[in-house]
Amino acid sequence: MNLTDVGHIVGDVDEGDDRMEVAARRENVDPLTIAAKYTAKFMDDRHKLNILDPHVMPKATDHIPDMIRLIERLIEKGNAYVAPDGVYFDTTSFPGYGTRLNAEPPDERQAGARVEVNPNKRHPFDFALWRAAKPGDLQQWDSPWGRGNPGWHIECSAMSMKYLGETFDLHSGGEDHFFPHHECEIAQSEAATGKPFVGYWNHVYFLKVDGGGMHKSIGNVYLVDDIEQRGFDALAFRMLVLGVTYRKGLDFTWPALAEAQRRLCGWRTQIREAVESGGRATVAATGDPIRAAFAEAIGDDFNSPRALAQAEAALKLVNSTDGASRDRGLGLLFDMDRVLGLGLEASAGARAELEGEDKRLFDERLAARKVGDYTRSDELRAALERRGIKVKDTKDGARWERIKEGSAR
Ligand SMILES: [Zn+2]
Repeated sequence: MNLTDVGHIVGDVDEGDDRMEVAARRENVDPLTIAAKYTAKFMDDRHKLNILDPHVMPKATDHIPDMIRLIERLIEKGNAYVAPDGVYFDTTSFPGYGTRLNAEPPDERQAGARVEVNPNKRHPFDFALWRAAKPGDLQQWDSPWGRGNPGWHIECSAMSMKYLGETFDLHSGGEDHFFPHHECEIAQSEAATGKPFVGYWNHVYFLKVDGGGMHKSIGNVYLVDDIEQRGFDALAFRMLVLGVTYRKGLDFTWPALAEAQRRLCGWRTQIREAVESGGRATVAATGDPIRAAFAEAIGDDFNSPRALAQAEAALKLVNSTDGASRDRGLGLLFDMDRVLGLGLEASAGARAELEGEDKRLFDERLAARKVGDYTRSDELRAALERRGIKVKDTKDGARWERIKEGSAR
């Protein structure tokens, strides 16, 4: 996973303002501070969502020489040319440019969105590999073509090929990257190496909110922090995301998140109860039919909803009165959770503690029950339920589970 901390232009075009510079000016700090700030926030949020760290996370600003070498290679091969304001990739030198991920030719896709063509380009679709520095550019480097900064597309090709090889298996991105970004990556990489660039592309479709776009102006841009502030577990969002295939595009609504949280809490409660009643996970057998069906679902273009259905099948076993089935179910679930990342094994052992007002109400209810004040106890149970905590009295004492948002308000 790379960090393009320079050269990514607003609107994903060749000319205009660099996103990092816009943010740096807005927050009145230098671009590297901006990059460090949002990288740290991004990684924090990823950790809350149980997303594993990449093995390498190269930054564009650390790889300028690699980009320059790749551009030189393209010039030598006749796929790029030097212009007064930078270096451009000659798209006519790469047959099928712009049609590898989408059969629709680029001129039709861009019809109506045509911007004024830079006269330094030989062809309208040619894209910048290197841009000559403009007055006021906060990030610029020396190059054989004078001072300047790299184009966004070349950064990705230079970094991915450096760490993964000239051909690699999987490249992901958002649906906004089909064109031009990924088509440009394919053209320049394959032109330079003469080898296939990527085996499989997987593009994630946009997250919608309440059926529409997420926009600052509407005020519906939510962060992981907002989810937590409304009393949700960040992993409930992960559960929600897993409920839809990545090519479908998730529609985020608060009721849908509440439903995902109920599902996750239900799973955790059942697992915890199984463990508390003596259940011990047995290692899932490779040939186990539920495990095989789970692997098949994941192998089918990451069909996460089908994978979750297999987890539900394992959960049925967890609830079995037969000890061996219960233990097999636990083993299957914990094994699946290496992919699902819902923190299921952790929830089995550690009982979460209530905090603040929730804890006070829960303790007061215990005290009321102890002295036989069931009216007060019922009032407190209702109060807790309104705060999203369901209390259940079992032979081992009172148990609680989080059922909906609101508990952390
Ligand atoms: Zn990229």
